Amino acid sequence: MRHLPGGLSVFLNICYRRTMTSKELDQLKKQIVDIISELQASDHYLEDVTQPIAPSVAIGRLTRMEAIGEKSVNEARHANVKQRLERLKNALQRMGNGSYGTCLRCNKEIPFGRLSAVPESLICIPCAEKKR
Ligand SMILES: [Zn+2]
Repeated sequence: MRHLPGGLSVFLNICYRRTMTSKELDQLKKQIVDIISELQASDHYLEDVTQPIAPSVAIGRLTRMEAIGEKSVNEARHANVKQRLERLKNALQRMGNGSYGTCLRCNKEIPFGRLSAVPESLICIPCAEKKR
């Protein structure tokens, strides 16, 4: 292809590209890294608050019940955080091997809008809707 003026080649990229630009990929990568560090902080916090409640702790019956209820809520949150961390780390790996952003079901490119909303997406919206 002949050399095109900068503005025009950007325009053509937007119209015809099949794959994300490296700028978009960088943006998503940064987003993923940020979410991972946030989630790691909650992971540590939730790790602490989901420790077994020592029976020796002198708390009344009701507060102990509350503590147990809160612990199970935190355990559920912890499981979610861990699962999302896994997915995000997976997404970084896929960025490394070039399979990131391709729908696992239909093999089409997942639109940037979906990826920037849910950067760990493995499938595109039409496939996600079919699944339901
Ligand atoms: Zn798909």
